[in-house]
Amino acid sequence: TPRLRVAPSPTGDPHVGTAYVSIFDLAFARQQGGSFILRIEDTDRTRFQADSEQQLYDTLHWLGLDWDEGPDKGGPFAPYKQSERLDTYQPYVEQLLADGHAYYCWCSSERLKEMREVQQKTKQPTGYDRMCLGKTKEERSRLPGFTETPVVRMQIPEDVPLEFDDLIMGRTKAPRPDDQVILKADGFPTYHLAVVVDDHLMEITHVVRGQEWISSTPKHLLLYGWLGWETPQFAHIPLLRDEKKAKISKRKSPWAKLTWFQEQGYLPEALVNFLALQGHPPIFEEDGTERETFTFEEFSQHFDWHKINPAGAVFNLDKLHWLNGHYLRELSESDLVQRLLPFLQDAGAVPEPGSEPALGRLQEIVPLIQTRINLLTDAAPLVAPFYVADDQLEIADDARAQLKETAPGVLDAAVAALDPISGAASDADDTGHGWTAANLEAALRAAIVDGLGIKPRLAFGPIRTAISGQRISPPLFESMEILGKASTLRRLKALRA
Ligand code: ATP
Ligand code: GLU
Repeated sequence: TPRLRVAPSPTGDPHVGTAYVSIFDLAFARQQGGSFILRIEDTDRTRFQADSEQQLYDTLHWLGLDWDEGPDKGGPFAPYKQSERLDTYQPYVEQLLADGHAYYCWCSSERLKEMREVQQKTKQPTGYDRMCLGKTKEERSRLPGFTETPVVRMQIPEDVPLEFDDLIMGRTKAPRPDDQVILKADGFPTYHLAVVVDDHLMEITHVVRGQEWISSTPKHLLLYGWLGWETPQFAHIPLLRDEKKAKISKRKSPWAKLTWFQEQGYLPEALVNFLALQGHPPIFEEDGTERETFTFEEFSQHFDWHKINPAGAVFNLDKLHWLNGHYLRELSESDLVQRLLPFLQDAGAVPEPGSEPALGRLQEIVPLIQTRINLLTDAAPLVAPFYVADDQLEIADDARAQLKETAPGVLDAAVAALDPISGAASDADDTGHGWTAANLEAALRAAIVDGLGIKPRLAFGPIRTAISGQRISPPLFESMEILGKASTLRRLKALRA
């Protein structure tokens, strides 16, 4: 059965590419009844960041991309963190040295830097010049640019395989590599050795990763061959690109970071659906109609490596925004309340946790705003007016500016029309009593539109501004119902004053 892995390096904020690759891994694993493994590739100590590993777990969990084996879960091939596997790699280094596929290199970093500069200046091919090849430590130490602690390099032969079959790219060519370091001076393997050893020992059947790794594949093929191991299948995923067609990167685009989507108020199900569509076509129903929204289960049933577009897709944030609105509207009201709560609390739009009455009111407000937001962060300005004290409600400048000379008369008429209505919704009956949206609307229409002959827009604009402080608000009469009689009248009078 297939075993697939994602192998991120904890070098900073988790990259959206890690989620992108994981989606295809997991879709195939689930479709085939296989396993999805998370391996932490933390052999690069210079780029290591301590909190990055936890962030990887958190963001992948948030997306629901759950793994079957991993550092936090354990599994039959533990440990799943490369820094805890150093002893595992050592014997393979010895073997490669003994078989003449690898050699020690004592060149200092200064010497390597000079070598590269000369190569660039003289337009020679870049790559290690094999100064150390075939030399003993003693012989090498008599030459310039020597350091005590060596690295180990693989000796790339003339007949290095430069072509391979890829599940997405088909027959794929890669450039000739130079003598890659496989063991560093600090005793850590490089990515190239560790990835091959671990993929073999962990019985990985499909190596799925970004296209940027195509140029590394010949080195990996050599290592598989030298160590006498069967090669896995490769699937190199096209890279996500920005509107200038450049690969999106954390330095240039905030949305290269997974945490960005959380902060912006995207839903994980929307992001997963979106990322799947960035590489894979929509689902086709049996009747041939195309469907762009789907659950992960549906996606994994339809998933096919051959359908992935080998050209990298441009990251289409508008599409994500649209999908997010779609998923928001599909949520049950109580689910939406739970998802909104942390965002509303962060924005100071609702009281802090533990205040039950606040939550009760939120259940009533949320249905009013569900169709009016596309991001979880859109809700705060719509919700805040329901929680602010009446005398603290701020009237937005643009809302105040659009008040016409008819506004004072409208506000007076509104107060007069609403005052006689009982403040309790439970008193509602079909004679217009009781504080319900329908009764409030009927009373205000009768008094202002019919009574004063003012057009609805001019009639309700000032009332909306008085109630919400905004030009645009959730539905007005429902808002007044939730707010209650006392608050509503205080706000109408406050704007009038
Ligand atoms: P950046 O260039 O964004 O600063 P990086 O390329 O150094 O970062 P890494 O943290 O090394 O990013 O990448 C994390 C993972 O995301 C890697 O597996 C990489 O293959 C993948 N990845 C990086 N860029 C993209 C992209 N544009 N599209 C898809 N996957 C990507
Ligand atoms: N550690 C590599 C990365 O950060 C893994 C690449 C691979 O999947 O082989 O992307």
